[in-house]
Amino acid sequence: MSDTEVDVLIVGAGVTGINQLYRARQEGFSALLLDEAEGVGGTWYWNRYPEARFDSESYSYGYLFSRELWEEWEWSEEYAGQPEVERYFNHVVDKFDLRRDLRLGRRVTSAVYDQGAGTWTVTTGSGEVYRSRYVVAATGVLSVPFRPVVPGQDVFRGVQYHTGRWPADAVDLRGKRVALIGTGSSGVQLVPALADVVESLTVYQRTPDWCTPLNNAPIPAARQAELKRDYEAVKHTLETSPSGFLHELPNRYAEADTAEERAVFFEKLWKSGGFRKLSTNYIDFLHNPEVNGEWCAFVAGKIRETVRDQETAEKLIPRDHGYGGRRPPFGTGYYEAYNNPSVRLVSLRDTPLVQLTETGVETADGVVRDADVVIWATGWDFGTGALNKLGVRGRAGLALDDYWKDGPRTYLGLASAGFPNFFFPGGPHGSTGNNPRYNGDQVEFVTALMVHAREHGAVVAEVSAAAEEEWTTLMNDQAGRSSFLESSYFYGANIPGKPRKQLLNPTGRSNMQKVATETAAAGFPVFEFGAPA
Ligand code: NAP
Repeated sequence: MSDTEVDVLIVGAGVTGINQLYRARQEGFSALLLDEAEGVGGTWYWNRYPEARFDSESYSYGYLFSRELWEEWEWSEEYAGQPEVERYFNHVVDKFDLRRDLRLGRRVTSAVYDQGAGTWTVTTGSGEVYRSRYVVAATGVLSVPFRPVVPGQDVFRGVQYHTGRWPADAVDLRGKRVALIGTGSSGVQLVPALADVVESLTVYQRTPDWCTPLNNAPIPAARQAELKRDYEAVKHTLETSPSGFLHELPNRYAEADTAEERAVFFEKLWKSGGFRKLSTNYIDFLHNPEVNGEWCAFVAGKIRETVRDQETAEKLIPRDHGYGGRRPPFGTGYYEAYNNPSVRLVSLRDTPLVQLTETGVETADGVVRDADVVIWATGWDFGTGALNKLGVRGRAGLALDDYWKDGPRTYLGLASAGFPNFFFPGGPHGSTGNNPRYNGDQVEFVTALMVHAREHGAVVAEVSAAAEEEWTTLMNDQAGRSSFLESSYFYGANIPGKPRKQLLNPTGRSNMQKVATETAAAGFPVFEFGAPA
């Protein structure tokens, strides 16, 4: 049992938490960072399944706060794999001497506001107690794995893994019969990684997604030099672009091209890197069903061309959503893997999952397919999952999970009324585009807010209910601006019983930046600053 006092207590050693620790320390606050994991990296610590890798360009994911860091760290590939990403975060905490303020292997079980003192008491699973002026919950949007309740999970005699809790000790799947459930971004990365290694791989797919090639490649020396030289320009673009990517912006409507020109353009996009298919497509591609449909038909053609067994190809083609209705996955050799005789696809739309038996996976047609290993690539309790589990109690004992029982209520996706001195950059209602970029904006806002409070002798900062209401209403009312469907996890639709509410920021990063900049410049008028009350 310890009782440590600190200005800023950060929860979560992922991309946002490490940034927050760096910035809090830079501004002269004492700070500590707790994480349940034994290492840093957050999502890049836990998701160590084979072939887990970025699908944002590596250099657009890393930190921009130090030119020296930018110049000395060379990403080896356009889309770095998990081991390299984890090494990067370790390098950052060592380089900036942040490790001394890390407390790893600590699971936060509660964070309770003491109204009389204006401080927080944070307790861990092992009973350690920390007191702080501020709590910054940098707990991430994709950090609480979702594993559906399927009968028989306790009778299955083989081994089960979730992609998001992949063991740190190497898992040897050679010669194993593997059942993989789920074909989102994690599933499509795993399939080709396993196909040549395992004895057999059965992929259980419920909803097919529009998977397109990641087109990963090593970063050549000339490009490395260019990135270093152009640090200021790159930084500026990444700090201001709506998507948080370096991608060129779309420059024309589909109708400006003939059908033949569009086919050529689509072919070029197919060969482009990751999200460029989304971010550099035609201007009207996400909101004009005809254009979107044409691109989907193009991708469906690629699937039919690639997968030799046409029955399998047809099952892999999405029927119920266009491109961008759900977060698209990017793969390397995903469709090709289905040509490997050891890989088979089971469509759970045709034959739903019934149960795990002692020896394998049973589907509704009564077939049991034997498996030594079941891998759940079944996703996350997105946006609110981790915050709702943190045991947060604000003023008058208000429980955050109770306050958010009908969906999150936030200001700028980083604060809630009734929870003074509690911030959650990277939380629901902020998320839009390349994750570290908008989270970084929010970290800057939180840091400036704490500095402002200190400069004005205030020990308590709390967002007003009116400001929270205005932002929350905007998030819910503007949902139509986003292409994502209400049936996607961005609305909590994948979690049984979760309210279907907007969890992203459909107004985009630029709007969040505008509101944040104006609020900060005006002295944070939507916050009440003062003494404990
Ligand atoms: P996901 O996109 O939520 O996919 C989960 C999969 O599991 C879906 O195919 C889903 O089918 C299936 N599933 C869920 N419950 C099921 C059930 N009861 N029975 C059968 N199937 C079930 O999760 P994810 O693949 O982990 O990806 C989540 C997000 O993490 C991504 O969108 C991305 O933002 C991020 N990510 C990024 C990378 C990267 O490259 N940087 C890699 C992995 C993940 P339904 O769709 O039918 O529900």
